[in-house]
Amino acid sequence: MKFLSAGKSDKGVSRQNNEDNFCVDEDLRLFIVADGMGGAAAGEVASRMAVEIIRDYIKRSSALGGAGNEPFVGGYDKKFSEASNRIASGIRLANQAIYEASQSNVKWRGMGTTVAAALLDGSKMSIAHAGDSRIYLIRTSSIIQLTDDHSIVSEQVKSGLLTKEEAEGSEVRNIITRALGTTLSMDIDIDEIDLMDGDRVVLCSDGLTTMVSDNVILSTVAASDEPGSACGALIDIANKNGGKDNITVALVYLFEDRTFLKKIKNLFR
Ligand code: CA
Repeated sequence: MKFLSAGKSDKGVSRQNNEDNFCVDEDLRLFIVADGMGGAAAGEVASRMAVEIIRDYIKRSSALGGAGNEPFVGGYDKKFSEASNRIASGIRLANQAIYEASQSNVKWRGMGTTVAAALLDGSKMSIAHAGDSRIYLIRTSSIIQLTDDHSIVSEQVKSGLLTKEEAEGSEVRNIITRALGTTLSMDIDIDEIDLMDGDRVVLCSDGLTTMVSDNVILSTVAASDEPGSACGALIDIANKNGGKDNITVALVYLFEDRTFLKKIKNLFR
């Protein structure tokens, strides 16, 4: 499967700093969005550490960077492929490093970051995440959220205490229940997707999803056959809708034949 990819981050309209970070590495076929939190500049440190440590780990364990015999971190889950175990290992390694950094420097105490990561291996995509950054799959004319937010409201929706609409208006909407850097070991959600010709994968921070509905994400991504311009268009819409938080988007367009992308675009004209 061939692909086109792009990523973009913007601090939004009302924040002074951008605490999000991302990685779009076409050689490694690795895509990451991380949304940092913590006082002063600590959130930015945590999200940057996450992106750099995961990327370095994947590079060292790939044919491109090292011999591929890098040890797995936190064990090997046989239910999943080697690629999925690699991405989970990279996230666990980043978690440990951010936790240790936050314990060793008082400026960084309490810092943490979400992570949403995807590693492409042929027509399979391994995804892993912690926190409320999301990964969506856009297939033909539907959008499917592949990740479950690790947040208080998401858990309340799952247990039937809140409706999805009530959750969107909740004051505690931003409080997440899982973040890298807050405990020495953590659970990582892992999933594997079989991709099809024309699929599009969206990774994003909550600065996009709190400002732009899933349907608008779908129509905006589907209307462009160029992922870089679609990233820019999504950020523009988030800012027009208020831009209350940092906004980060990474897009991967899968295809066997480039003309297929144009055909999909024409459907949405
Ligand atoms: Ca955010």
